[in-house]
Amino acid sequence: MKALITGGAGFIGSHLAEELIAQGHQVVALDNLSTGRMENIRHLQGNPNFQLVIASILEERVVDKFVERCDVVFHLAAAVGVELIINHPLESLTTNIRGSEIVLETAYRYHKKLLLTSTSEIYGKNTSGPLKEDEDRILGSPLKSRWSYSTSKAVDEILAYTYWKEKGLPTVIIRLFNTVGPRQTGAYGMVIPRFVQQALKGEPITVYGNGKQSRCFLYVKDAVRSLIALMNLTESAGEAFNLGSQEEVTIEELAKQVISLTQSGSKLVYIPYDQAYEAGFEDMARRVPDTSKAKKYVGFAPTKSLKEILESVIAYYRTEAGVPVR
Ligand code: UDP
Repeated sequence: MKALITGGAGFIGSHLAEELIAQGHQVVALDNLSTGRMENIRHLQGNPNFQLVIASILEERVVDKFVERCDVVFHLAAAVGVELIINHPLESLTTNIRGSEIVLETAYRYHKKLLLTSTSEIYGKNTSGPLKEDEDRILGSPLKSRWSYSTSKAVDEILAYTYWKEKGLPTVIIRLFNTVGPRQTGAYGMVIPRFVQQALKGEPITVYGNGKQSRCFLYVKDAVRSLIALMNLTESAGEAFNLGSQEEVTIEELAKQVISLTQSGSKLVYIPYDQAYEAGFEDMARRVPDTSKAKKYVGFAPTKSLKEILESVIAYYRTEAGVPVR
């Protein structure tokens, strides 16, 4: 199989490329290196089964050329990260809506199965326990960047679903809950790489709000294996799947675990949301997925505990990312 990965030099895209190649497939990674990074895919360059194309998904002719040449499309390219979205709301919207429209139109032109990665942000402020795929979305004002992001990804989902329903293009929607692992950068707000880097440098650990909010963190390799399995499964067309861990941890507890595993002398510092993001920022108190659907379709089951995930990220930042250790 020859797969096109939009966002192929990103954190998840690069792990997906690696796994596809390991399974004997060919990969074309399309990335404009806005948040994707050469370091993520440097080890794949020179591999005859890997090709990097540096371009944006907004460049229709480039998208056309490479969709035509591939068998399937993994559409991962998007503006992600709460901080990035808040700082660049307009660009985020354009990338997510117009970009997805172009990729989907092109996949339809050549009738190529498309997998769209969406997000748990779709559910908004719905904190009612493990969220199933058909759960209600509860959102704040569209004038708040976080909710406009949620809406932009919902538009992507509707587009993908409508191409299936109305035009018969096989599309599958994956809602990724917090996904973490080596190569994830803290530059766009993601909590684990930030805490690990702060702990390794002996800096204060920045806990936003009161730290009682909880999240579940999935190891990136577990996510990408299921992306491939769901792409390969005919019955996934026209369906949406949650992928995420169910091991819940509060952010405060996470910070303490990072300190303990790195044996760091860092202390926790609590930063109000208004200061961390923007005035009026709303966080999600809790976000836990129900993943029984992905389990039923492709046997999805996370293989790594939070502790093991943290150890892999700490090892990454200690060695490859070259952070001086105190
Ligand atoms: N967070 C934090 N300190 C940081 C970065 C994030 O306390 O330096 C919190 C953030 O407010 C949220 C949680 O960690 O409650 C997860 O944030 P992330 O941006 O990783 O993912 P989200 O679940 O918000 O999309």
